[in-house]
Amino acid sequence: MSRYVYDFIDGNKDLKDLLGGKGANLAEMTRMGLPVPPGFTITTDACKEYLHTGAMPTGLLGEVEHHLRQLQASAGRNLGDPHDPLLLSVRSGAKFSMPGMMETILDIGLNDTTVAGLAHQSGDGRFAWDSYRRLIQMLGKTVFDVPGEDFEVELTMARTAAGVTSDAELDTAHLMDLVESYKKVFHAHTGREFPQAVHEQLYLSIGAVFRSWNATRAVLYRRQERIPQDLGTAVNVMAMVFGNRGADSGTGVAFTRDPATGRRGVYGDYLQNAQGEDVVAGIRNTVSLAELAGIDPQSYVQLLSIMQRLEQHYRDLCDIEFTIENGKLWMLQTRVGKRTPAAAFVIAAQLVDEGTITLDEALQRVSGEQLAQLMFPSFDKSAAPPPLVTGIPASPGAAVGGIVFDSASAAAATGPVILVRRETNPDDLPGMIAAQGILTARGGKTSHAAVVARGMGKTCVCGAEQLDIRDNEVVVAGRSLHAGDIISIDGTTGHVYPGAVPVHPSKVVRYFEGDLTAHGDPLLSAVERLMIHADHTARLGVHANADTAPDAARARRFGATGIGLCRTEHMFLGDRRVLVERLILADSDIERAAALDALLPLQRADFEELFQAMDGQPVTVRLIDPPLHEFLPPLEELTARVARAEALGEEPGRDGVLLAAVRRMHEQNPMLGLRGVRLGLVIPGLFAMQVKAVAQAAAARVAAGGDPRPEIMVPLVGAVQELETVRAEAESILASVPGAPPIRIGTMIEVPRAALTAGEIAGAAEFFSFGTNDLTQMTWGFSRDDVEGAFFGRYQDLGIFAASPFETIDVDGVGALVRTAVERGRAARPDLTVGVCGEHGGDPASVRFFDGAGLDYVSCSPFRVPIARLEAGRAVV
Ligand code: PEP
Ligand code: MG
Repeated sequence: MSRYVYDFIDGNKDLKDLLGGKGANLAEMTRMGLPVPPGFTITTDACKEYLHTGAMPTGLLGEVEHHLRQLQASAGRNLGDPHDPLLLSVRSGAKFSMPGMMETILDIGLNDTTVAGLAHQSGDGRFAWDSYRRLIQMLGKTVFDVPGEDFEVELTMARTAAGVTSDAELDTAHLMDLVESYKKVFHAHTGREFPQAVHEQLYLSIGAVFRSWNATRAVLYRRQERIPQDLGTAVNVMAMVFGNRGADSGTGVAFTRDPATGRRGVYGDYLQNAQGEDVVAGIRNTVSLAELAGIDPQSYVQLLSIMQRLEQHYRDLCDIEFTIENGKLWMLQTRVGKRTPAAAFVIAAQLVDEGTITLDEALQRVSGEQLAQLMFPSFDKSAAPPPLVTGIPASPGAAVGGIVFDSASAAAATGPVILVRRETNPDDLPGMIAAQGILTARGGKTSHAAVVARGMGKTCVCGAEQLDIRDNEVVVAGRSLHAGDIISIDGTTGHVYPGAVPVHPSKVVRYFEGDLTAHGDPLLSAVERLMIHADHTARLGVHANADTAPDAARARRFGATGIGLCRTEHMFLGDRRVLVERLILADSDIERAAALDALLPLQRADFEELFQAMDGQPVTVRLIDPPLHEFLPPLEELTARVARAEALGEEPGRDGVLLAAVRRMHEQNPMLGLRGVRLGLVIPGLFAMQVKAVAQAAAARVAAGGDPRPEIMVPLVGAVQELETVRAEAESILASVPGAPPIRIGTMIEVPRAALTAGEIAGAAEFFSFGTNDLTQMTWGFSRDDVEGAFFGRYQDLGIFAASPFETIDVDGVGALVRTAVERGRAARPDLTVGVCGEHGGDPASVRFFDGAGLDYVSCSPFRVPIARLEAGRAVV
């Protein structure tokens, strides 16, 4: 019989798949002897079974009852005891943290009888009746779908009737009346009485938490965070402890280091006389953890020592939730805490310094995505007006956009927007995803807005209390701003500026550029240290895709050790377009030769500059690839121009000739048409001119004392015969240029047939470079320029793929072709060099795949070079 329930004392932190993150860590803390309220965890397997069959798995409730008896024994109280009732919390807890996305139900065990027992036992009638009305509301909403507003209406009416403005001012008698009103609301919507049977309350709550795995916002969050949809949630049932039992009680959230900067020292928020949900919801403003030292010194000291133990135990930054009930400290949750990208680097380096982790482990603690975020620009402070207001810097970055006040407008907006809210809740998720940044008036660094924004890498400023947010208007510092007004928010300083503040490059980018040194800067020093280690461990080299000398120079500064793709067609744009036109329009060998002769010196000069910028490193020059009509004016434009000329009775002249050529060359599927190697085979002299330019440029660099290392790469090859033909011509040209260094000839592998016949193709290629853009296009049959907007969203909804295969390599399909080609190519030619130059070369997950597939290098855009370097190192440790 499968086991569905684990007592906290039976689990441990490594059982996250089964017990979820929260359950596994509660178990770990229990085993460490920390003060955790007694409880048990229902496994994710039980949830999956429930979601599959729609019913409680056989045997589950029996197990729950068994563990409940143990829980009652440890707590010294019984569920439903009319004199001294035990109350339970039922919380979700998946393998991966999904803050606020699923359900929690508190105060289970209260009914018409036990409420009096609780009032008597706690000596606080108000507290007991307030807890009861909260239970009716929570169970009503989550289990029975009673609209939350209906309860809110009753609450407002109760306040009005009592002549008070806050819930806290409602006394016991008011709350007793409110319970009656809530019960009526419950009955009106469900047709039944509020469940008085306390075990039924528990079972209903467990089912509701299971079902909340599939709540719309949870599904959306998982899609955004790339969390698999089939994991299910565990359910944690725990004895309630109360932070709202007076001034010697309270609740808080704490971090063992600052999750925003990584600075050493504890950090957190505390809220006196409140329940945990109040802190996370950011509804009331908290005090800093340091103030707890004055409020309750004994608990403070105990908390600090527990935090230190947790950090040593987990060997990482931990975040915790705790409650103090009448002076007694309880630990309600811990986990390895989320942090900003900057903090991730700083903390990883600190932990190495402190001797807690190795450099290899430190590399595992950071990621290419985090480095990418650190390479975002920030505001140019010298050009910023005085801030309108300064809130709490909750998630770094610089965001500029038009104000929107609600999630729907954010999601519907076409331009960049800033979501401005009093506070956010999980229903705001679509708006948070759509917005450039998030600004709230309430809540601290641990509020919903802050936690979710940090997780998404989105700029967020929260708790800007001076913001007076009204209907479609926000008033601040005597100014009134409306929807659509542009503001700029700085998630690093908390400043909020009117208008669009200019942005400037990130510190990390300036460091890579060589404009800043790492000395004395904790973040840059950490980045430097981890990059050095990544380069040291990496098997993969990192090259750049660059076509100009400035790009090549930047790529070099960013650590590229070569150019993996120079797209030569980029050299034929601008003024040179006319020369290409002449080539295309040539109708005799003489005219064509003249056009090519005009292009040759220009190409040669481009290559010379490029080889100089990458002196001593390989530069892979790809022969021209796109369909030639891309160099001519579009068909519609020419047709209109010619028609206009004819209507005016004028000669269309050159336009007429061009139109005829464009019509002649028109293709239904140009990306599958006359391009790549096919051009080289049908347009005499085109590839030859390019090869000659490469050889001459290299010879010139050698003569100038340089060390040029060009390679020639042929695109879109599908058959070895294509490559052999081009190769024969290229070799004879190379041999004819005096003073040229040896130049290797290779091919792109971007047609599935090339991957499958790689053994033969390797006979004519000294190197392969995977063009995974085309290879993905042709393997899936997806037009790379059309499909993303057209239907990829639907494909992601359906789970056909989690991320676009044009961004992250499709391991099972395209990846299988890559592996096949590597294997067959190397079998035929053991010293074959193999790289990749499609967009995937700079994608962290894909870099790991390429490392595993045994490639020699990845090539990506210059800005992604540091990210690829880091990931190449991480792929090995
Ligand atoms: C590719 O197809 O992956 C590639 C690098 O070539 P291009 O993007 O220029 O077609
Ligand atoms: Mg290609």
